[in-house]
Order: sequence, then structure tokens, then C-alpha cells
Amino acid sequence: MVTDLIPDSAPAISYLQDIRLQERQLKIGLLRLDQVHPVISGNKWFKLKENLRAAQTIKATTLLTFGGAYSNHLVATAAAAQAAGLKAIGLVRGWHGQARTTPTLEACRGYGMELQFLSREAYRLKTLPENLDALKKTFTDTYIIPEGGNNQAGIQGTAGIARWIPAAATHVAVAVGTGTTFIGMAQAVQQDIRLLGFTAMKGGDYLKEHIAPQLPPINWQLVTDGHEGGFGKHNPELIAFMNDFYRVQGIPLDFVYTGKMMKRIFRLIDEGFFPENSHLICIHTGGLQGNQSISGHLAFSH
Ligand SMILES: *Cc1c(COP(=O)(O)O)cnc(C)c1O
Repeated sequence: MVTDLIPDSAPAISYLQDIRLQERQLKIGLLRLDQVHPVISGNKWFKLKENLRAAQTIKATTLLTFGGAYSNHLVATAAAAQAAGLKAIGLVRGWHGQARTTPTLEACRGYGMELQFLSREAYRLKTLPENLDALKKTFTDTYIIPEGGNNQAGIQGTAGIARWIPAAATHVAVAVGTGTTFIGMAQAVQQDIRLLGFTAMKGGDYLKEHIAPQLPPINWQLVTDGHEGGFGKHNPELIAFMNDFYRVQGIPLDFVYTGKMMKRIFRLIDEGFFPENSHLICIHTGGLQGNQSISGHLAFSH
């Protein structure tokens, strides 16, 4: 079964050591989805597994998906397809006619994914829902996964992350890109949990309207000011935070999602956001492959 690619065993929780936490009686742990698989890591595996199951149901021979030149989803799909014995096609955004490549795209090719490059406009058109349906009709033996694994199967898969959250947790934190993981987890966490989403892009407030209708009545909040300059952007303070975090906690973070989230969480602690005796579980959604593009800045490798 392709869905048995990765055993469904409990990921570790790494609890942080920090004097500020002791002073405020806070418990903060990272649920280490980054350790699920070296490449198909983090939340991407949870999104992919229900999609792989669906691909298997329709007896697809090929997976087709979309992503940018640094996309964690693209490379995770490439690796999963190879492991499952499926062909893979990746449509890459905004690299039309360019000879450049990235470590992510090289890895995709290494897993046997065929890459097709599209201009930003052509890419946008291809990813529109109505065009996806047309694409589905043309490629009958192909299972199409939308950009970022953002579909119902992706939501269903990420809901499975919630069962690894200890019953004593009061807050759960997760980084937000498309919001798929946030929605999936919201549907499965205990009712009294406070679910915090940390958006990775500038102007993330627009996601509130997109996400709200898909949420059950739980206590949730998006923190939209921890983007450090925008999606995929980094700066010396963020890098210093990540290097420090690694030195003290021994945990590598990625610079696009989890580094920004943890940096903002430490600011929330200083701001007194968390009441005494809070028990926060932060989801380490992986993404460490993306650090290859800034490895010269980092004091650790993934
Ligand atoms: C893709 C990704 C996210 C965002 O997940 P969404 O479901 O798109 O919100 C968060 N963290 C990491 C490391 C990712 O690769």
C-alpha cells in the first residue's frame, strides 16, 4: 500500500529548555513532524498520504502537481511518487525559459519527477479550479494534487496530526501557508484547545476570511505579523534566532515557516501572551530541505 510508505507511529515531542519558560511556568514542546521522513517531512506527508490513497483508488499511474522553485510540497510529492512506484510531473511557477535551477528542483529531478516550466500567468491559469477539472479529463491516468496539497484529502490527512497532541496541552501553534494544515487540525483538536496560526507571508490577514468558514467553533487566532518581511524572505535577526535556537535546543528550524513561527512565539512569551501554566505544543512542520538555499548563513545542516 502506498499509504504505508511511512509508519504511523508517534512523532517525538521536544520540550524547550529556557529560563524564561521556567519563570513563567510555561511548558513548550515541538511535535517533531520534521523527523517523519528526510524528504517527505512534516505536514507534507500528512497531506500527501490521503492524496496517495485517492490516486490508488482511481488506479492512477502518475501524480501531477504544482509549486515554486523552492517548494517543499513539490519535492515531497516527487519523493512520495518514486517510493510509491508512480510517475510524477511537476509544473513549476515563474521559471519559464530560464536555465537556472535550485537544490529543490535538482532533488525533484533526482526522484525522477518530470518538470515543466510555466510563466507566472500560465501557471496561474493552470491552477484555477475550472482548469484543473479540464486537466483531469485530459489525463485520465493522472491524479492531480493542487498547489501545496491544498484540497479535501490534504485537510483530511492533516487532521491526523491532532492525535499526537498531548491531552494536557492548552495551546497549539502551527505555521500557515495555504491554511490547509490549520483547517485540518482545527477539525480534530480538542474543543478547549486554543489554536494559533502563524502566517508566513505579508498581508496574511486575508486568510482569515478564507479559513473562517471551514472551521468548527473552536478558539482560534491567526498571528499575521511574524512574516519577517514576506514569504521566503529572511533577515539577519531571523537567521540569528534560528542559529541560537539550534545551539540551545538542538532543534533545526526552516527559515520559511517554523523559524518565523518560533521567533514570534518567543516575542509572545515576552509580551505575556501565555497565561501561567500554559502548555503549548508547536507543530514542527518540517521544510528543512528549503534551508539548502541559505545554507551559508546557518550554523546547522538538516
Ligand atoms: C507547506 C508548509 C507549511 C504550510 O502548510 P499549509 O497547510 O499550506 O498552511 C508550514 N510549514 C512548513 C514547513 C511547510 O513546508
